[in-house]
Amino acid sequence: MKAAPAAQKRLLDLAELDSALDRLAHRRRTLPELAQIDELSARIARIATQVIAAETESGDLAREQTKAEADVDSVRSRATRDQKRLDSGQVSSPKDLASLQSEIASLSRRQSDLEEVVLEIMERRETADAQVSRLVAERDELAGTRGTAEDRRNAVFAEIDKEKGEVQARREEVAADIPADLLALYGKLREQFGVGAAMLQGARCQGCRTSLSIAEINRIRAASQEEVIRCEECRRILVRTAESGL
Ligand SMILES: [Zn+2]
Repeated sequence: MKAAPAAQKRLLDLAELDSALDRLAHRRRTLPELAQIDELSARIARIATQVIAAETESGDLAREQTKAEADVDSVRSRATRDQKRLDSGQVSSPKDLASLQSEIASLSRRQSDLEEVVLEIMERRETADAQVSRLVAERDELAGTRGTAEDRRNAVFAEIDKEKGEVQARREEVAADIPADLLALYGKLREQFGVGAAMLQGARCQGCRTSLSIAEINRIRAASQEEVIRCEECRRILVRTAESGL
C-alpha cells in the first residue's frame, strides 16, 4: 500500500485521538461512583427484604392483638352478665349462687391472663414497629446517598461525553486527511491491537517498543516515502517522521 507521507503522519494524530477516546471510555467504565451505586443498590435491596419481613411481623401481631382484645371483651361481657344476674337477686339457690360466684372469679382470672397476653403482644408489636421505622430510615438514608452518587456520576458522564464529542469532531477532521484504504487498514489494526499506527522513533517501533534489526532499517530506508511500512513485530503501521533517524 502507498500513501502520501503527510497522510501517513496524520495517522499519528488519529492514534493520539483514539487513545484519548479509549481513556475517556475507560474512565466512564471505571468511575468509582458506579461501584458505589452498585454496592448501595445491593444494600438497599437487602434492607427492602428486611422491611417486608418486619412489616409482615408487625401486621401479624396487629391481627393477634385484635383477636386477643376480642377475647378480653368476650370474657368481660360474660362476667358483666353474670354480675348482673348476681346483683338482680334472681338467683336464690345457694348452689347456683356459689357456682355463679365461682364462674365470676374464674372469668376475672381469665380476663387478667388475657390482658397480660394483650400487653405482651403490644410490646412485641412496638418492637416490630420500631424495627420497621429503623429499617425504613436506614433504607431512605442509603437511597439518599445513592441519589447523590448518581448525581455525581451523571455530572462526570456529561463531562466525559462532552469531551468525547470534541475529540470525535477533531478525529473526523483528521480522518478526512487520510485516504480511505489507509484509514481502513488503520481501523482494522486498531480493532485487532488497540493501536493501529505507531511512530518509528530512532530504530524502535513506538507501538511495541521493539528495536528494528539493521536489515529491517535498511529495507525501510530503501523503501519510498509513500510506501506504507508495517512493524514486523506488532504488525502496526510504522509512520516515519523527522524523529525516525533514517
Ligand atoms: Zn511494533
